[in-house]
Amino acid sequence: MLRPDAGKVMESRSAREVLSALLARPDEVMLEIGAGGELLVARLRVVVAALLLLLPLANALSGGTARETLVGLGGAVGVNLFAQVWLHLARRRRRYRWLPFATVAFDVSATTAMLVALAFVHLPAALNSMVVWGCYVLAIVLTALRSDGRTTLFAGALAVLQYGLLIASVFAFAASPEQLLSSDYGAVTVGAQVQRLMLLAIAMLITATVVYRMQRLVELSGTDGLTRLPNRTWLLHRMPRLLEIASEEEGSLSIALIDLDHFNRINDEAGHHAGDRAIRHVVEVLKGMIERDERLVRLGGEEFVLVMPQPPGTAWERVDAIRRVLGQQPFDPERGTLEPLRLTFSAGIAASPHDGLDLSSLLRRADRRLKMAKREGRNRVIARDG
Ligand code: GH3
Ligand code: MG
Ligand code: MG
Repeated sequence: MLRPDAGKVMESRSAREVLSALLARPDEVMLEIGAGGELLVARLRVVVAALLLLLPLANALSGGTARETLVGLGGAVGVNLFAQVWLHLARRRRRYRWLPFATVAFDVSATTAMLVALAFVHLPAALNSMVVWGCYVLAIVLTALRSDGRTTLFAGALAVLQYGLLIASVFAFAASPEQLLSSDYGAVTVGAQVQRLMLLAIAMLITATVVYRMQRLVELSGTDGLTRLPNRTWLLHRMPRLLEIASEEEGSLSIALIDLDHFNRINDEAGHHAGDRAIRHVVEVLKGMIERDERLVRLGGEEFVLVMPQPPGTAWERVDAIRRVLGQQPFDPERGTLEPLRLTFSAGIAASPHDGLDLSSLLRRADRRLKMAKREGRNRVIARDG
């Protein structure tokens, strides 16, 4: 059940808060989504790069000079080579933090390089070619797929900077105003160029807004409304990577499946609202006990998962200590009218790689041990079968 303030992450925020959210390093789930986006962009780039090979061909067939055709061909081959390298890196299981920034810098700089090449062929074409200039806008808009505001702001700033320098250079190189006039491309004017710079900045702002909004929606879908803890969706997204990291480092990852004992009694005796508050009380106590590298997730109802990068023995000690502390901090249901209630939980622990290598087998094992803990009288933690 969602509390009315569950939508808080969607409330309007000040521009400064939006900017700092965009400049922050996205969390692991968002980075994982961004890595998927990077792969999509890399595939798209390969297709676009292959199409670019047709341009010099079309130029040659329509009577362009051999020099123009060769410059175009060289550029297109270079772009294809890079596109293959970026695709290869985006496909790797290892995530490179710098990859989105490198590919964004490549997309923007490749556009600038094409415009510079045009300048050598025909000066006005460098500033008035709509098709090539549009690649800046595409490079900025495609950063939305990386789900990382930093790449969007970086793409926008780099495009404005490089295109600004190009404008200044073309005006400096033009020996006379006539050189900036073209029968094909029209006249190059300062006003129109300033408008183009503004359009790049607007494309950046719109894309950044999309990224911000998307990040908040992902955040909302991975957050439990009652307790603000990460939820089952978060766990499903995040666990594969956590298990992968643990196996790469040859370490253990333990999960504790925690279920509150006789929770129905609280609902029956104190009412559903008090039940909700009791869940929040438990979460506050648990949150106060967990370490920085541990994650508490609300799986649903009064069931939680605690993820710990520890072997099962240490995990058992951790969860048992939490169990004892919770027992010492009773929940006050009605502030005076009812006796404070002592809340307890039972937990089953399973650890990778010993009990399984994926989330579902770990949850199955942990559930078996949780049921055993319930059978044996509740208020206990079990980390082994039998
Ligand atoms: P056991 O010791 O066997 O776990 O007994 P239990 O009563 O806790 O039984 P069980 O775990 O199967 O059921 C939990 C109950 O918790 C069922 C449901 O009514 C209640 N519950 C689940 N989610 C919520 C919630 O968000 N708020 C409230 N108030 N109650 C909830
Ligand atoms: Mg339950
Ligand atoms: Mg229960």
